[in-house]
Amino acid sequence: MALFGAHVSSAGSILKTFERAEEIGAEVFQFFLRSPRVWHWKGVSKEIVRKFREKLSEFKNPVMVHAPYLLNLASPKEDLRRRSVEVFLEELIACEELGVDFYNFHPGTATGIGEKEGMKNIIRSLEEIFSFHEPRRTTVLLENTAGERGDLGKNFDELSLILKSFDGVRIGVCLDTCHAFAYGYEINTDKGFSEFFKEVDKIGIENIKAIHVNDSKFPLGSKKDRHEHIGKGFIGLKGFKNLLTHEYFRALPYFIETPKAGDMDRVNLEKLRSIYSGRI
Ligand SMILES: [Zn+2]
Repeated sequence: MALFGAHVSSAGSILKTFERAEEIGAEVFQFFLRSPRVWHWKGVSKEIVRKFREKLSEFKNPVMVHAPYLLNLASPKEDLRRRSVEVFLEELIACEELGVDFYNFHPGTATGIGEKEGMKNIIRSLEEIFSFHEPRRTTVLLENTAGERGDLGKNFDELSLILKSFDGVRIGVCLDTCHAFAYGYEINTDKGFSEFFKEVDKIGIENIKAIHVNDSKFPLGSKKDRHEHIGKGFIGLKGFKNLLTHEYFRALPYFIETPKAGDMDRVNLEKLRSIYSGRI
């Protein structure tokens, strides 16, 4: 059974995420451990870990942490790459202590270098991370990107290359619908969806563990990562119907990352539930 939820704010305390999820009727949720554009972090105290785990055991459903945007495991600048490895590690270890199910990150950006070199840097960085700490509770998720400005992990060849390097490690993929469509996967037509499926085979569908469910403000292949409300963008209802009627995808957790405006989180979640149950 699909579970529908959203990205919620952790401003003030990560403990507030549970009530914020409840307010919008989210069955699953995603949050940031820290302000996503700031390096500094004071970590999570033992007291917070204890309280968070208590709330999580009542909540029962999966929760996801999204890594900060500053990280770049592909960077040719050794100081930035090392810093990214350190932050990734401290967050991954915190996720494990908190009992978080998924740690989602954008694989990296090839800035000023070729894509091949960028991919090598990502794999090297993840090797460093997993040799220091191999996750036992949290599954690390590579998020596919729109391929904007050198963003890697934009297609299933690149995702597959990374996954294959970490056989046996708790690592999978979080499929972002907006990014996939903006990259060029036409998930909103029958023909496009079946072609998309052939691509998914490159990683094995079972490696897709969660969905970031967003419509797109820009057309197919635009390479622009701008999220729109469900059914209001270029993907449209048909694309979400394709996903939500598919026997594998129907059983995954869904997280909206659509613009926060008024009651729109509730509206978007209601729309997804209606598609799922065949009401629209
Ligand atoms: Zn996303």
